[in-house]
Amino acid sequence: MAAPVVDYLEGLNPAQREAVGRLDGPVLMLAGAGTGKTKALTCRIAHLLATQRARPDEILAVTFTNKAAREMKTRIGALTNGLSEGMRWLGTFHAICVKQLRRHAELVGLKSSFTILDTDDQLRLLKQLVRAAEIDEKRWPPRMLAGIIDGWKNKAWTPAQVPVAESSAFDGKGVDLYAAYQRRLIELNACDFGDLLLHMVTIFQTHEDVLANYQRWFKYILVDEYQDTNVAQYLWLRLLAQGHKNICCVGDDDQSIYGWRGAEVGNILRFEKDFPGAHVVRLEQNYRSTGHILGVAAGVIDANKNRLGKTLFTEGEDGEQVRLIGHWDGNDEARWIGEEIEAMQRGTRGLDAIPLNDMAILVRASHQMRAFEDRFLTIGLPYRVIGGPRFYERLEIRDAMAYFRLAVSQDDDLAFERIVNTPKRGLGDKAVQTIQTTARANGVNLVEGARMCVETGLIKGKGATALRELVQGLDRWNQQLRDESDTHIELAEMILDESGYTGHWQNTKTPEAPGRLENLKELVNALENFENLQGFLEHVSLIMDNAKDEIGDMVTIMTLHGAKGLEFPAVFLPGWEDGIFPSQRSMDESGLKGLEEERRLAYVGITRAERHCLISFVTNRQVFGRWQNQMPSRFIDELPEEHVEVLTPPGLYGGNFGAAGMAAQANPASDGMASDLHDRVASADVYNSPGWRRLQSRSQQRPVSQPSEARNITIDMTASSSFTVGDRVFHQKFGYGEVMEIEGDKLVIEFDKAGEKKVVAKFIVGAAQ
Ligand code: ATP
Ligand code: MG
Repeated sequence: MAAPVVDYLEGLNPAQREAVGRLDGPVLMLAGAGTGKTKALTCRIAHLLATQRARPDEILAVTFTNKAAREMKTRIGALTNGLSEGMRWLGTFHAICVKQLRRHAELVGLKSSFTILDTDDQLRLLKQLVRAAEIDEKRWPPRMLAGIIDGWKNKAWTPAQVPVAESSAFDGKGVDLYAAYQRRLIELNACDFGDLLLHMVTIFQTHEDVLANYQRWFKYILVDEYQDTNVAQYLWLRLLAQGHKNICCVGDDDQSIYGWRGAEVGNILRFEKDFPGAHVVRLEQNYRSTGHILGVAAGVIDANKNRLGKTLFTEGEDGEQVRLIGHWDGNDEARWIGEEIEAMQRGTRGLDAIPLNDMAILVRASHQMRAFEDRFLTIGLPYRVIGGPRFYERLEIRDAMAYFRLAVSQDDDLAFERIVNTPKRGLGDKAVQTIQTTARANGVNLVEGARMCVETGLIKGKGATALRELVQGLDRWNQQLRDESDTHIELAEMILDESGYTGHWQNTKTPEAPGRLENLKELVNALENFENLQGFLEHVSLIMDNAKDEIGDMVTIMTLHGAKGLEFPAVFLPGWEDGIFPSQRSMDESGLKGLEEERRLAYVGITRAERHCLISFVTNRQVFGRWQNQMPSRFIDELPEEHVEVLTPPGLYGGNFGAAGMAAQANPASDGMASDLHDRVASADVYNSPGWRRLQSRSQQRPVSQPSEARNITIDMTASSSFTVGDRVFHQKFGYGEVMEIEGDKLVIEFDKAGEKKVVAKFIVGAAQ
């Protein structure tokens, strides 16, 4: 039958057409970002359907996220007049494997009604097994075991297949515990996420008939983002593709960013070996981004040693340069981005107005989102957080907030219920019930009820000791809050520390634990903006009350990892500082592997942008409420000058970057604060980094929209005698403040954020109001 004339082919370039038209045999589309790989893959499916090469359910199409699957289905539907309807096998690896496993569950000892455990359930189970094996949980935390087992599953190793070289894992008991865990899961008629693929691979390897059926069934197999498949996914695909051998994989080795989760970029590199006679299509024309954005992306990824190397070009315009800006601190960065977003939304600099839906902020780690969320809520800028709960909805944040709420009021029973056994204190459901009954019988709150249970011996043993400690802690924190003996920030840190909550995550060895710890630090940072704990709690309850409807015109906030495959007309990339991006972990690692993966992530970030790309960094960040000097990211050194415009930070930063800041740094020790020395030298280094100097030297000093608070501030290097009590001033390290007293050449200043300090007048600049 002749292929119908379809317009989906018309919008494609010759290389894409080749990839779409060559339907038989293995095809690899290996090409850089924005070259239309996903588009070609989508058209290929449309072509298969329109030419009736396959029925919708005979096509297996794998995407990286559920969202991508939905979008692809909608597009294919639009191209084929709804032929995509019956595409039952279009989805993520996990979604497709669940479907298969339900059909064949009995082959691995499960019933088709099996449940899929979440991480919490998984952990509870592992904990029981670790205890049963009498292993010291402190030295060998169950979470670590969870990480090890996940890693093995990603490699498609059943307990029997774990190589001898791994036998020392988890104090030599890893493999046995893995086997016990798998047995227990079967007894529970359950599996974890890793099992979905592992079980299917096992079934295919042991039941030829089942595999043969699928091999016959799937006439065409298509895979997007192939560079991020792990070994188990790869094996599953390779087994299925051995039938018709019509497999088309698309990917970009430069965008492999899930190595930490077991992805093997090697899978894409050996495609031609696995599928002899594979046809390789290379796409080089980028349709997404302007010339300058592509130039910057190429400059960054060029610094990676281990890559195939590809060229990208665009026939589009150069557009505006990628903009780079440094800020004083994270709050300023969030404020500036908020202002810039509003300006772009209105349409500035002669550009068209850009809807909020077309703008995204892409962060390296989710804790970075908090500053933006807070700022946007304050100014009423609608936003959505993709790929995870909003900051204040995260598990660890809610736990921490429950402690704070109890410090403020012991009547908060809900908060008590949440934390009574978090971290684990050996208080089971029964103990909690006893507390509840006691409280109810006596008409008191749960804290009081708990106190009674301990005193009257209703709860005994280890649980009683832990409960007593908790109640004493709650009393103590409550007292400290009333005494105001510590700042609310110190108190918050103390609570998280003394309750064992911080320690709990420190001892946790799963991949997500460091992120949770960072979120806790970020929570403490957020407190800086409030006078006391009560004010902060009020702020958060207001935020939580703001109904979360995700429809409408909103800025997107998400992680760089989550943004893979997506595109936005305007992209903000904040937090480009060493230790954040690249992450501290990747910098600490020996060898280049981690750093190169971070660089690929930078490449992914930049190439999400169509027309506007703004990179920013700050020189001061708060960690646990304390200021820390930041160095601009080493990736900033790699941005090719000709494609970058360095923005002059709004007025107040002039003192920081300009003559005044430098003058202050030239005399590091003379303000008599020894602890400052290190900070100042470090901060001077920031401006000595080669990349910064280079960029600074050709800065075009273009004025940018200024945050309202900063608008009227001028830097004044006049002598100290010009200050009078009540003057509004600015200090390099402590920020804004008001002069309280003048003692010779020293000023006592009440800083907005840092509190009262005595500093040498010459390091102070006047801030005209
Ligand atoms: P990534 O590597 O980021 O996943 P990709 O290679 O999958 O990128 P696509 O998302 O398919 O690229 O395409 C990028 C953009 O270019 C999309 O907006 C797409 O519609 C557009 N595009 C792709 N091919 C063409 C073409 N031949 N003509 C015009 N626009 C195109
Ligand atoms: Mg894509």
